[in-house]
Amino acid sequence: MKVVIIGASFAGVAAALEVRKKQSDADILLLEKQPTLGYIPNGLHLYWENRISDLKDAYFITQEQLEKQNIRCYLAAAVEKIHTGQKTVDYLYHEQEMTLAYDKLIIATGSSQLSQKMCYSSTLIKR
Ligand SMILES: Cc1cc2nc3c(=O)[nH]c(=O)nc-3n(C[C@H](O)[C@H](O)[C@H](O)COP(=O)(O)OP(=O)(O)OC[C@H]3O[C@@H](n4cnc5c(N)ncnc54)[C@H](O)[C@@H]3O)c2cc1C
Repeated sequence: MKVVIIGASFAGVAAALEVRKKQSDADILLLEKQPTLGYIPNGLHLYWENRISDLKDAYFITQEQLEKQNIRCYLAAAVEKIHTGQKTVDYLYHEQEMTLAYDKLIIATGSSQLSQKMCYSSTLIKR
C-alpha cells in the first residue's frame, strides 16, 4: 500500500510514524513544500532563551531518522492538485511538475484561522 502524506510537520510526521507502526510494508512518502522538515516553530524563542545553543537543534526529527524507518521524504515538493478520482497528486518539485499515485492520502498541511475573532483548531485540513 502506498501512503502519500502532504505536509511534513508535526501532524504529517506523526501520521507517517503511526502508519509505519501499523503497516511495516507500506510505502510511505512525505511531500513537504519547504526545503527542510521537522523545524520547531518555537525554535527561535528557544534559542533566545538559551534553551538550545544552536538553531540546528530546533528540529524535532530529521530526514535521516525518518528514512531509517523507511519513510521517504520529498522536500521542496509543493502539492498543487489532488485528483481523488484517479488517486494522484500533482506537485512542483524543483520547478518541475510531477505526478504521484497513492492508495491512501493524508493531508497534513496545517491550518489557518478564518477570522481574526475566532480561531478554528483543525490542524489536518487547510481551509
Ligand atoms: C511561532 C510559533 C510558535 C509556536 N509555538 C508552539 C508551542 O510552543 N507549543 C505548541 O503546542 N504549539 C506551538 N505552535 C503551534 C504549532 O506549531 C502548530 O500547532 C503545529 O505546527 C501544527 O502542526 P501541523 O503539522 O498540523 O501543521 P504545520 O506545522 O502548519 O505543518 C503543515 C506543513 O504542511 C506543509 N504544506 C502546506 N501546504 C503544502 C503543500 N501544498 N504541499 C506540500 N507541503 C505543504 C507546510 O510547509 C508545513 O510544513 C507554534 C506556532 C508558531 C507559528
